[in-house]
Amino acid sequence: MIPFSDLKSQYAALKPQIQERINRVLDHGQYIMGPEVGELEQQLSAYTESKHCITVASGTEALLISLMALNLKPGDEVITTPFTFAATAEMVVLVGGVPVFVDIEPDTCNIDASLIEAAITPRTKAIIPVSLYGQCADMDEINAIAARHGNIPVIEDAAQSFGATYKGRRSCNLSTIGCTSFFPSKPLGCYGDGGAVFTNDDALAQACREIRVHGQSARYTHTRVGVGGRMDTLQCAIVLAKLERFAWEIEQRERIGARYREWIREAGAPAELLTVRPDRSCVWGQFTVMVSDRDGVQKRLQARGIPTAVHYPRPLHQQPAYAVYAGSRGLPRSETAAGRVMSLPMSADLTPEQQRAVVDALLTA
Ligand SMILES: *Cc1c(COP(=O)(O)O)cnc(C)c1O
Repeated sequence: MIPFSDLKSQYAALKPQIQERINRVLDHGQYIMGPEVGELEQQLSAYTESKHCITVASGTEALLISLMALNLKPGDEVITTPFTFAATAEMVVLVGGVPVFVDIEPDTCNIDASLIEAAITPRTKAIIPVSLYGQCADMDEINAIAARHGNIPVIEDAAQSFGATYKGRRSCNLSTIGCTSFFPSKPLGCYGDGGAVFTNDDALAQACREIRVHGQSARYTHTRVGVGGRMDTLQCAIVLAKLERFAWEIEQRERIGARYREWIREAGAPAELLTVRPDRSCVWGQFTVMVSDRDGVQKRLQARGIPTAVHYPRPLHQQPAYAVYAGSRGLPRSETAAGRVMSLPMSADLTPEQQRAVVDALLTA
């Protein structure tokens, strides 16, 4: 069986570094807000060239804390894509906001920037594009629209795209705020839950830091309402160890993605490839293709030891919890994509032999 996301090989390659980092934390005993937290934040700031990095409990928490820092109020509208993991819209609703869904580009599955302007109203308080599958949304176009409408804040949901570039700049540092996740199977993962918020805005960074620790501006001075949203020292230590190999892993993911695309094209396999725009790199948080008869293809691949997954089988406006926000705009491309997308095994340690087996299986599936 080929692993869908090969975390075992990654651990085998980094075992001494990870164990040493974990042992150091166990020895100093500062399990909450220990020195590894600031060390990781510094390294991630440097990597993204973002002025501030605030580590938080998860990617979901990063979105929540960002929306709280932007002071989102009940009834405020947030424009986003329905073709994403639920957390994107979930946090909007949790703070009382109203997700306004805008359809996707059929060839990248990212939000279609050209449809955003028509969805803006005086109540629009944020835009959340998702950099789906590891390719950034058209951030500059979205930033320009936001700027034309009174500088609406733009939050990049970069949970799947940490390490990707857009016009030479890093994902997470492309708009007002960038949010990422260190869920184990994301491009940069820990061994539990973790995430981070990135911004170049000093006041927003300060707000996020306070909100992360129950709104405290000093110990037991609760300046605002916050959450318990910290990332554990141990999880930060694990990400620090993984950073040693991260540049190589990103290169690998890009190489493996390119090889999949070349071989699927060459073989004439019945799988449609997504477009990667020439001004960005894709880190393939998921390697996703479009197929017809997805259920049948998945079953036949499974029988040959090839696991697959669907990101995502139903757009959010068709989910029971979010149908109330479906609006009247019509989101046909998201619905079509949800019926056709299928993700193949992807990780930095996937070998060419394993990839060959996947493509061969696709040909006969
Ligand atoms: C994974 C993911 C999240 C949530 O991240 P967690 O760390 O699991 O909370 C949010 N948005 C998208 C697009 C994701 O893929």
